[in-house]
Amino acid sequence: MDLFNVYPINPINIVRAEGSTIWDVDGNEYLDLYGGHAVISIGHTHPRYVEALTSQLNKIGFYSNSIEIPIQKQLARRLGEVSGKVEYTLFLCNSGAEANENALKLASFHNGRKKVVAFSKSFHGRTSLAVAATDNPAIVAPVNATDNIVFLPFNDEAALRHTFATIGDEISSVIIEGIQGVGGIREASAGFLRLIRQLCDQHHSVFIADSVQCGYGRTGDFFSHDYAGVQADIYTMAKGMGNGFPIGGIAIAPQFKASFGLLGTTFGGNHLACAAAVAVLDVIESENLLENARTVGNYLIHELNKFDKVKEVRGRGLMIGIELPEELAQVKKDLLIKNKIFTGEAKPNVIRILPALNITKEIADRFLTALDERLK
Ligand code: PMP
Repeated sequence: MDLFNVYPINPINIVRAEGSTIWDVDGNEYLDLYGGHAVISIGHTHPRYVEALTSQLNKIGFYSNSIEIPIQKQLARRLGEVSGKVEYTLFLCNSGAEANENALKLASFHNGRKKVVAFSKSFHGRTSLAVAATDNPAIVAPVNATDNIVFLPFNDEAALRHTFATIGDEISSVIIEGIQGVGGIREASAGFLRLIRQLCDQHHSVFIADSVQCGYGRTGDFFSHDYAGVQADIYTMAKGMGNGFPIGGIAIAPQFKASFGLLGTTFGGNHLACAAAVAVLDVIESENLLENARTVGNYLIHELNKFDKVKEVRGRGLMIGIELPEELAQVKKDLLIKNKIFTGEAKPNVIRILPALNITKEIADRFLTALDERLK
């Protein structure tokens, strides 16, 4: 059997990792500033994480949701404590797409409506509703295509006002990333997020904050939408939540509890996934990683803005997009091949930095020196 993969594959055979360092089979050392696409939040093989997972596996790895699973409650409590969203209820699933899928469904169960507002360049996952709300027609299969999704230009307050004035009472939910990741690291403005809150309140629509990539402390706020001082009705999360162990979740404001029982999944909230997620929260809290994401992130953004060949630096905390002139699109590849640094890309000329939240200033400096070398 042959293997098919949609992603371009780098011929690097990685066999071991620690913190933000990865080693390949030949012993070459790499610096990881991509975290496997914003997944590695507390660094590879963090001792507290490894211990939590192995000791859980030695006790029980899985049983279905037909019994009480105390570690789910522990996770919900810890998530409330670390994120500050104490009034919310947590539903657990296995991925970002599944989290968004369930959030969109829950909103529709709640208000009985069909229309969803999403934005240009959005990415919400590849399951049916999540992909339909993703602004990339190439990955929407005919069976997923629906005119229930209304796409509006990102950060365009006039278009949003106009849409609510016209069909506001049909809108079930508005789904928005605090910072678009796949779309090129573009931040929703505070004013735009506040307007969404206001219009959703007026029209009884549900505000869904897709925090799959920008959440879980990545920007220095637990949920990146927090910076605008707004509360969403539903926060969706995955990626960094399990530091590599698949887990997703949705945090739901109290008024939606009634529709909650209509959601379900076999693997969601299994013992191992919850053990991973609790360990991640414990490390985020005990090692002050929100503050570290802010400090090191601000430092990186400040220093990157000094490069005259960089067209634009976008993002917040440790979610950074570095836009280069198109003729320098090769730089990302060279960083990997010549400097042994993993980064991500949005468009070929936008380098995406999504490192673990515990990277140090020294690691940031190593990257800045390498980038300087590549841009010379
Ligand atoms: N939402 C956002 C903002 C994402 O970046 C992604 C993944 N890139 C998803 C949802 C989908 O997550 P998953 O791949 O875990 O289904």
